[in-house]
Amino acid sequence: MTTSPEPEPELRERLVAAVQRLDALGLNRGSSGNVSARGALDRSGFWITPTGMGAEGLSAADLAWVALDDGAVLGEWQPSSEWPFHRAIYRARADLQAVVHVHSVHATALACQRRELPAFHYMVAVAGGDNVPCTPYHLFGSEELSSAVAAAFADRNACLMANHGLIAAGTDLDHALKVAIEVEALCQSYLATLSSGAPVLLTKHEMAQVIEKFRSYGKARRRR
Ligand SMILES: [Zn+2]
Repeated sequence: MTTSPEPEPELRERLVAAVQRLDALGLNRGSSGNVSARGALDRSGFWITPTGMGAEGLSAADLAWVALDDGAVLGEWQPSSEWPFHRAIYRARADLQAVVHVHSVHATALACQRRELPAFHYMVAVAGGDNVPCTPYHLFGSEELSSAVAAAFADRNACLMANHGLIAAGTDLDHALKVAIEVEALCQSYLATLSSGAPVLLTKHEMAQVIEKFRSYGKARRRR
């Protein structure tokens, strides 16, 4: 039987703030999409938004807890029906601590064409490689979808899901949000580019240079 996790009120408040930010940015509307964060003190599970609840009125007490090993649920409300792919990502990648899933307009438009986001712009490297892949179509909440998502996250921090939307993950909630916001903006640019012709793609070498530069990006504080 799953025991109660550490309450971690701060982490849960940050999760609620992340949901509200996605709503304010227009990346999620109504109760579509969901956000989760791995327990920081108790890493045996994760906090996730409840099913059927939007950003409005959501509080830290509404979040559900899902155990990583057997998927057992604790909390007053049922977790989002899409919790299985959150679990699959945390099980596949110990370094990822937060997962953001949205049905944002432009990422979803590309996903409905079952197209990946290629290396048309150097910022595609924000997802950790030279593309953002698109998984095959599977029913939401299904084990098949979870397996496809876990495979996509083996070496990426984001993927599109065919006829569905976008998932982004990060080393904390801010990182996962940043990846989601950036990939949605890139999908918008890519669709605009496609409307006026075929983009010139960056080469593997050019993208490898960007990925290398991102590794040290933001760490070089200037001396005063
Ligand atoms: Zn969804």
